[in-house]
Amino acid sequence: MMRIGTGWDLHRLSEGRKLILGGVQIPSTKGEVAHSDGDVLVHAIIDAILGALAKGDIGSHFPDNDPAYKDADSIALLKQVITEDLPPYSIVNIDTTLILQKPKLREHIDSIREQLAKAMEIDVNCISVKAKTAEGILGELGTGDAITAQASVLISC
Ligand code: MG
Repeated sequence: MMRIGTGWDLHRLSEGRKLILGGVQIPSTKGEVAHSDGDVLVHAIIDAILGALAKGDIGSHFPDNDPAYKDADSIALLKQVITEDLPPYSIVNIDTTLILQKPKLREHIDSIREQLAKAMEIDVNCISVKAKTAEGILGELGTGDAITAQASVLISC
């Protein structure tokens, strides 16, 4: 039995915030504005997993007006979904795309993949992370004031 899910997330970027992607802090002058740590990549992955399970979305599981999730570690939320919601399914593979104008992520991609693989207890070859710019267009994405992430996941049991 196989099921597929997709996830998408968007956050504003602002000075004085950390840029956290897949649990890895990326050197950057701007970071995600959010109630949680704002890890846009992990949020898209959580939504893809919950989508594959038809179990709602990240907002229904971890409301952003709940003080419990203020500055929440998104990797911990991902681990919770993996242990509490995913079984009896397991992850076959995940493919993701980040869109941000800067900084360049090339040198960080492998550490992001390793961190995500560790959190989900899957092989690093089962998680793909791609990054592209917005070519200077698409409003706040192009000016470097926002970031989006897309994720697709295949699960099986
Ligand atoms: Mg989010």
